Order: sequence, then C-alpha cells, then structure tokens
Amino acid sequence: MNDSEQRQTLLQLCGQVCAKGLVCGSGGNISVRCDGDILITPTGRNLGALSEDDVVRMRPDGSVYGGGVPSRERRMHCRCYVRADVACAVHVHSTYATALSCLPLDPLCAVPVYTPGYAISVGKLPVLPYLRPGSKELADMAGEVLAGRNSVLLAKHGVLTVGNNTEHALNIAEEIEENARIFFILAGRGAGLTEEQQAELQRG
Ligand SMILES: [Zn+2]
Repeated sequence: MNDSEQRQTLLQLCGQVCAKGLVCGSGGNISVRCDGDILITPTGRNLGALSEDDVVRMRPDGSVYGGGVPSRERRMHCRCYVRADVACAVHVHSTYATALSCLPLDPLCAVPVYTPGYAISVGKLPVLPYLRPGSKELADMAGEVLAGRNSVLLAKHGVLTVGNNTEHALNIAEEIEENARIFFILAGRGAGLTEEQQAELQRG
C-alpha cells in the first residue's frame, strides 16, 4: 500500500478505536508500518478528528519527515517495529484496563485469564512498572517485553498492543479491555481458566 492508502488505514483504525470507546480526549496513539517508515498519530489531538494530512510520517529512529509533531510516545512505537512481523501498534488508556493498571498486580500476570478468546490472544498479561510516558526507559522496557509477545499493561497508564495488521492489534486491545471489565464485574467472585485449561488452548 502507498503512503496515502496507509494513512487511510490508520484513520480507519482511529475511527474504530474511538467508536469502541477505547480512548478519551487526546489520549491514545496509534501507528502503522509504511514501507520502511512508520505513520503515527500526532500529539495532542483527538484520534476521532484527524485527517490524512495530520498523520505524521517518521523514520524507524523517530525522526520526522517535513512537518507535523508525532505523538510524544513515539519512542515506544518505534520500538514495536523492531519486530519484522509487526505492522501496527495501538496504545490506549481504555477505562477498565487503566483502572486495573492502578492496582497492585503480579508483574507477570496482571489479571486472571477468564475466557478462551482472551487466553489465545493475550494469555498472561505482563505489567511494566510506572514509567514516564514518552521516556526512553518506557520505550526500552516495552520493546523488551514485546519482543516475545503482542501486549503489555503499563502501570497507572494503559495498554500497548502490536499486531500483524490493524485488526489484529485492535482485537488484542479490545480483549484486554473486556477481560479487565470482567475482572471488575466479578469483584473477587468467580475464577479464571485453570493453568491446564490455558495450556490446552495454547496448544490449539
Ligand atoms: Zn499513554
């Protein structure tokens, strides 16, 4: 796909993320791979109000072509594309996942795995400690975790997911939000899938 088509792909995803209520105000940022570069949403804007020209094209090192100011969390996005199979990165501060991220959590598994769909697409969700948004430390740590999986929870902040296309990255962000919502609805009742049930699903 050429630059313009990829910008449209990114805008479509922005619309979906807004329609699903995964972002609020100017929060959240999204990127897609475009040839050897990255297209990313601009800083300080509502994702639902963007046009093609607002999308910022940057090199893999985060430097920008021409005008436009990319999301302040661009470093984190750049790190996502170190993996050759990643075509899209979604970062949102969706309500239930963010509420979850404010609780004391097991850093290797933030929340019980409640459903088979979640077990397959997310599984045991790791949590990074709170790190300043936009910082190199956050980008480095997120990059390390995402080298081996497609999602991570950021303490007191939100969610970061990657996928081999926009739908894939979006689905994972939605699954995380839904599983976190189930966690709060259950309020300590019920239980997630057992280790054995999760392992069986992972085997396919
Ligand atoms: Zn953020």
